[in-house]
Amino acid sequence: MSISRAPTPRVKAIVLSAFNHCRWFKLCREYVQALGWKDCFFRPAHDRCYCRKCYSLPLPDVISAAGEDYVVPRGWAGFGLQVDTTLVDYHNLWEEWIVTYHGTSTIAAESILAHRQFLLPGDTLLNGKPLSIRPGHIPGKAHLYTSPSILYASLNVYSVRYNFTDSSGKKYEAKIVFQCRQKPKTFCVQAETVGRGKDPICPFISNDKIEYYTVNRSSVVPYRLLVSLKEL
Ligand SMILES: [Zn+2]
Repeated sequence: MSISRAPTPRVKAIVLSAFNHCRWFKLCREYVQALGWKDCFFRPAHDRCYCRKCYSLPLPDVISAAGEDYVVPRGWAGFGLQVDTTLVDYHNLWEEWIVTYHGTSTIAAESILAHRQFLLPGDTLLNGKPLSIRPGHIPGKAHLYTSPSILYASLNVYSVRYNFTDSSGKKYEAKIVFQCRQKPKTFCVQAETVGRGKDPICPFISNDKIEYYTVNRSSVVPYRLLVSLKEL
């Protein structure tokens, strides 16, 4: 799939970001704009940039949220998403829920944001097709998978690769991952399911506890869209 549409005026809200000074962030924003999603999904006040300039090397690689470690998404640009304030208040979401990642496709991501909740395999996407179970996972089990590691969540099997051409004509491979808040004690922890065995996937989270799964769709809330671009 190739995405090379020009920016559209209706995404003007995400232009009001604190990271307008960063060329990397602006490039990633160009990709987000090319997706053509509605600006009502976004909350620029929660934008973050994790490029080398905006998030320097001495800063931590791992941060604790609600008592659980997550890996900082170095190299990714993050676009704040609107989160239901009732959910935030009811669950004390920013203080009590941990941080996890969910790699996905652009159609699944847009469907999740439009439905205002996570989808489980078998649910219908905006394009009318059912969300499928990723290879390596148990057929017939409608689980939602997350990880405290951006390196795991962004593996190709989870985070679909797209071609992107920027406004100057440069070509990139693009990926998206949701940064989420996830309710503690609502999920199971298991080893990697991509066949890596003991070969470490992430230097900070061991392979034997790198994948979380749940059937509770409302226990995971995306609050930032992370974008990565690799020049081709
Ligand atoms: Zn930056």
